[in-house]
Amino acid sequence: MAQVKSIRGREIYTHDGYMYTFDAYNFNKTKKFWRCRYKNDCPCRIHTSTETSKVLKILNDHCHDSEAALIEANVAITNMKQRAKDTLEPTSSVINECTSGISQAAKGALAADGAIKKQIRRIRREIQAAPDAPKDLMTLVIPDEFKTYSPSEGIVEQFLLHDSGPGENRILIFGRYRSLEILAESTSWYADGTFKVAPSLFSQIYVILAKYMNGVHPLLYALLPDKKNKHMNSYYK
Ligand SMILES: [Zn+2]
Repeated sequence: MAQVKSIRGREIYTHDGYMYTFDAYNFNKTKKFWRCRYKNDCPCRIHTSTETSKVLKILNDHCHDSEAALIEANVAITNMKQRAKDTLEPTSSVINECTSGISQAAKGALAADGAIKKQIRRIRREIQAAPDAPKDLMTLVIPDEFKTYSPSEGIVEQFLLHDSGPGENRILIFGRYRSLEILAESTSWYADGTFKVAPSLFSQIYVILAKYMNGVHPLLYALLPDKKNKHMNSYYK
């Protein structure tokens, strides 16, 4: 069975290029009864096992062609929705990643649905977890869920410790309050800037480490707009 969880809120089962909508359970819920999605015209029904999702019985023949391409397209859409939720990739990359391997026929079915981009953006707006990449440091707005850190379930602490505010020389400092305590207790601090892994808009990730117990630990991470360290000097004072 392909992964198409639902279409417009209805549970969908796909089998051999046909789509079925959920109808009912049997009396003890061990079986699921499904009807062809064209149930008004088509008499085909199937029964599946609730436990394994395998087909147990097929009743009647379909009176129409299979919809393999459409199903493939729907799987791609399901994957895109998931990817839009799980990653920060631009919308166009999400679409490319999820459609590069599908058949021409499925691509055709997708192209017919010009609303995909809109749909992905809507999902992102809804969950607000993966906004499109910000354009500049002036307009960058950091969603609340990116300002906090959850070390364990039910516990949320501030993770964005400092934001110098909108502007070209914007600086963000991330870390845990516990890190500040360790810094206060430690007698040796180290600092190191790295350029390669800095996210776009920023030129440098500046890491502050401190000797504590028997090791040296990275404690604060600053995103700097350029490759100089002058910005950080004001923070040490
Ligand atoms: Zn049918």
